[in-house]
Amino acid sequence: MPRTDQVLADPRLREAAARLGPALVKRVVVAAQERCRAGELAPTDVADEAVAALPAGATTLRRVVNATGVLVHTNLGRAPLSAAAVEALRTAAGPTDVELDLVTARRGRRGRGTLEALAAEVPDAEAVHVVNNGAAALALVTRVLARDGGSVVIARGELVEIGDGFRIPELMESVGARLREVGTTNRVRLEDYAAAVDDDTAFVLKVHPSNFAVRGFTSSVPVADLVTLGPPVVADIGSGLLRPHPRLPDEPDAATALRGGADLVTASGDKLLGGPQCGLLLGRSALVERLRRDPFARALRVDKLTLAALEATLTGPVPPVPAALARDVAGLRARAEAVAAALPEHLGAVVVDSEAAVGGGGAPEVVLPSAAVSLPPAYAEPLRAGDPPVVGRLERGRLLLDLFAVDPDEDVVLVDAVGRAPGPA
Ligand SMILES: *Cc1c(COP(=O)(O)O)cnc(C)c1O
Repeated sequence: MPRTDQVLADPRLREAAARLGPALVKRVVVAAQERCRAGELAPTDVADEAVAALPAGATTLRRVVNATGVLVHTNLGRAPLSAAAVEALRTAAGPTDVELDLVTARRGRRGRGTLEALAAEVPDAEAVHVVNNGAAALALVTRVLARDGGSVVIARGELVEIGDGFRIPELMESVGARLREVGTTNRVRLEDYAAAVDDDTAFVLKVHPSNFAVRGFTSSVPVADLVTLGPPVVADIGSGLLRPHPRLPDEPDAATALRGGADLVTASGDKLLGGPQCGLLLGRSALVERLRRDPFARALRVDKLTLAALEATLTGPVPPVPAALARDVAGLRARAEAVAAALPEHLGAVVVDSEAAVGGGGAPEVVLPSAAVSLPPAYAEPLRAGDPPVVGRLERGRLLLDLFAVDPDEDVVLVDAVGRAPGPA
């Protein structure tokens, strides 16, 4: 059994200790020694085993190729950041002037450049603010406007569960709001809202059903009609589209909601906007200022990394999510043909038509015509265990590697990872 300091003297492990930290490397070595003690490993193999077990980086998060055909995939971290946003993260990682005016040496408005970039992208908003995520934006609005026993009027068809058991009505009640539900699951009229609005109404909330659709005998009330009721109208548009998108005609956007008269719009930054996790608050300056100044706002504050990545998302080259939405099926098919042709013949890869989706980020009914490389289903597990892991979609008894959510620059990574994957067990 080799001693710990002997194993740690291996040059590969010394290099790893400098890169990943000595504590992490030592844990890996001790684990290999334990396997040796249990008779599972020869003493001469302990160092090699430890090297093989080292993580690639100082985070256990793995970079993954998203070949699911789901563009905004919650389990895969939603929007991948643009190269410009990643570069901005590097810049912001060190000491930075996030809250210092370098000319006067006085405290500056936190994240000023980011807020100006956001305001420039949403000219219909008098003021803007950024918090930790979409749920935080809604929680802040609710806490500040409905704190003193005020009620929030909301349609029954808009009581949305976001995912993983989180429900918007429960979130709002958790910060002290009373909900006044109006209408039925499928239909609500302006008169229903009008009958519920009274002196205790803090605001009227319109929530976009971003992950489901109710079809058939339905009706809902647009923001432009809700504003005639009197109380402030808050529109939770969900996906973070700042203006209408031709490919997503039913997806609400911030500009339309604000032009319709919404007093506040809330949205996520890491869905269709394609930025880092954050929550956008857009609307009337008196309201935004009240939210920003509330003590609770501090608990929802975003860090400098988020501010940097959001600014680069707004001002830099088109980020991956909106870039993907511009893809046409002919281009996707050509890429799929090239990927299939580059894979080893024994895999039996064939190109098939596929249907991609926006995902949890919005547009639940939109079908995005796409193309996929189809493999035998037994490859699903080895590909997820590969380096980098490739996550596809099991459909019609096949493993589909859908290219819609894969950046074209990543096709070579995909080919390499699939080509190196061990065969099915
Ligand atoms: C996604 C979503 C939220 C929650 O936003 P997070 O950024 O996930 O906190 C709230 N409302 C709607 C309509 C959504 O689609």
